[in-house]
Amino acid sequence: MPASNTAPPNPANPANPAATPESGPRLLADHVALDLLNTIERADTTPHDHWQTDADVLAWLKQVALWPGDDRAAPPKGLATAARALREAVRLIVARRKAGAKPDLAPLNDALAAGGSHLAVHPLPEGGVRIARIHAAANAAQCLVPLAEAAADLLAHGDFRRVRQCESDECTLWFYDRTKSHRRRWCSMALCGNRHKVAAFRKREAAADEGAA
Ligand SMILES: [Zn+2]
Repeated sequence: MPASNTAPPNPANPANPAATPESGPRLLADHVALDLLNTIERADTTPHDHWQTDADVLAWLKQVALWPGDDRAAPPKGLATAARALREAVRLIVARRKAGAKPDLAPLNDALAAGGSHLAVHPLPEGGVRIARIHAAANAAQCLVPLAEAAADLLAHGDFRRVRQCESDECTLWFYDRTKSHRRRWCSMALCGNRHKVAAFRKREAAADEGAA
């Protein structure tokens, strides 16, 4: 008797293709500091870095609304190099924190120290004002301060029981589990969750076949 009459889930969901140099970085972590780590992901067996150029980093910062500069501004020189250094510093801190070890916060503090922000007040239509923080964007280090601040916020206010990596052995992606049940296991249900379901389905089928033989 077959284990199930339902068709196996489609492992090649076109909505979620595997990482390739052409596909952009995924934004599925539910925390921008973890989306930062996911700008490198495993494609087949080799890691793929979505940040190859300064323009790649500029586009990503705009996508996550952490670009402090002018909309039409060109990326400052050295943005990719500085962004990759910040990413690896945050990765080390997150990994050590997850492992229960004391992380070295100095590289993140260096990134935060590039500073150059001030408050500004803007009028509201109904009267009164709102306060906005304006970040300087004169160089690569300053352009990364909002992102460094997001990482600091994760460390200070994040619940690290909810900071996890996808359970798939083939996946390197991080996420912040904001589900009500706190039982999120996969970077994405449509990707690794689906792959897991396919593997479980095949295992059941094989077991059923063996039983029938
Ligand atoms: Zn995954």
